[in-house]
Amino acid sequence: MGKVSKKEIIQSLNLQKEIFGDELFIPQINRNTSVVKESSIIYEEPALFPEEKENLSDGKAGWEKTSSLNELEKLICDCSKCRLHLGRNKFVFGTGNPNADVLVIGEGPGAEEDKQGLPFVGRAGKLLTDMLKAIKFERNDVYIGNIVKCRPPENRTPMQDEMDTCLPYLKKQVELIKPKLILCLGLTAAKGLLKKKESLGQLRKSVFEYEGAKVIVSYHPAALLRNPHWKKDSWEDLKKFRKMYEEITG
Ligand code: URA
Repeated sequence: MGKVSKKEIIQSLNLQKEIFGDELFIPQINRNTSVVKESSIIYEEPALFPEEKENLSDGKAGWEKTSSLNELEKLICDCSKCRLHLGRNKFVFGTGNPNADVLVIGEGPGAEEDKQGLPFVGRAGKLLTDMLKAIKFERNDVYIGNIVKCRPPENRTPMQDEMDTCLPYLKKQVELIKPKLILCLGLTAAKGLLKKKESLGQLRKSVFEYEGAKVIVSYHPAALLRNPHWKKDSWEDLKKFRKMYEEITG
């Protein structure tokens, strides 16, 4: 590597701080890894897990061939495919009824979720529980997950590459749960799942499809805590969601 100036080091540290917060990122050098440069941030791209290598002969990793959520969780809970694993306390796989007709998808774990390893257990989670109750669902009736399974530093919005890296796991969960309806909470969850570019206002007006399930997009409960005046529109979305559920499940 050529000579690096003090200014470049400071710039690089500031960029790292934007992504990783105050935790200092020190790459591990004793593993079979390659170093990737992305918009001047250097981070490690881990090699495939040995378990994945063994199973790639048929083009599929072990986790892709699992037939239960428990098995899937065991195979992916140590994932290090994206930078979010660096700050992870607990991997937040998802929770609820493994045969649920309804899948609720949020953005990503926050501090409390990262501590407990469960989705939506903080303040926004309490509101989500109340929102579900208002349309006659208990948390255990539905399955709850997130677009990314590890907490983004400082609760920042997950980056596109982080969402893209994590999405195959959620897709596999959808394949196993086979929900009939999906409720996407917030623009990030909607963008991550549906790859749409419209505003939340636009997305709320439509019904989408994902792997055979109907998808509705509405407000994230954390956004409702910050902007209570959106609760009226959120309630309309939830009533529409319940009506669709009754039509679909008879
Ligand atoms: N916000 C989310 O999007 N997901 C959680 O699990 C918690 C808060």
